[in-house]
Amino acid sequence: ADDVAFLCDWLRRAAQAIEERRDVLSALDAAIGDGDHGANMARGFRAVAEKLRDPPADAASLFRLVGMTLIGSVGGASGPLYGTLFLDMGKAARGVPVLDAAAWHALLSAGVAGVAARGKAAAGDKTMLDALIPAAAALSGTDSVRKALARAADAARKGADATIPMVARKGRASYLGERSAGHMDPGAASSALLLSMLAETAA
Ligand code: ADP
Ligand code: MG
Ligand code: MG
Repeated sequence: ADDVAFLCDWLRRAAQAIEERRDVLSALDAAIGDGDHGANMARGFRAVAEKLRDPPADAASLFRLVGMTLIGSVGGASGPLYGTLFLDMGKAARGVPVLDAAAWHALLSAGVAGVAARGKAAAGDKTMLDALIPAAAALSGTDSVRKALARAADAARKGADATIPMVARKGRASYLGERSAGHMDPGAASSALLLSMLAETAA
């Protein structure tokens, strides 16, 4: 179906972009974590790209496959969290035929709620949620999917930038306490990248 083709296009672009930014993402993680976030994400999205050679027929199954693949390949804290994002988007995608702006709002909101529950984290904790929460919020509205996704990508980028002064309250970076301030959260950066590729796919 058209929505599966669109999602595969996004995920291939995302895999490519993550590969290209692998060292940047790992450098962000080296500053406040253990330096593996780029390698973790690149490994996960290579595994996803591999599965896209023979994609499932519907969007819900594709989201589920991506989630399972990320859980099985990313590792670290981010693997189960990104896995949950896609698994919960998959649950919300059941019976949603067209990925219009309203559908994306429902899907991403469900995925983000799943990440927050799984990570026991909230806005301001200096995690991927600081990019994902504003992105989901930016999808509400009635305009075209192209405009809505562009707005979401913009909100995610601003959200990732806003993690720089934050003190981490979750994940490895929280062990640094106040010393975690002054660096962008790597998971927020990778989330902003995923949203930016999504907007580019719709553009
Ligand atoms: P690890 O920290 O195990 O090496 P990664 O480096 O791949 O895993 O991922 C780190 C990212 O995971 C962080 O930058 C943050 O965005 C995200 N993260 C960590 N813990 C949580 C949490 N409890 N809730 C939400 N996101 C989290
Ligand atoms: Mg790490
Ligand atoms: Mg690690």
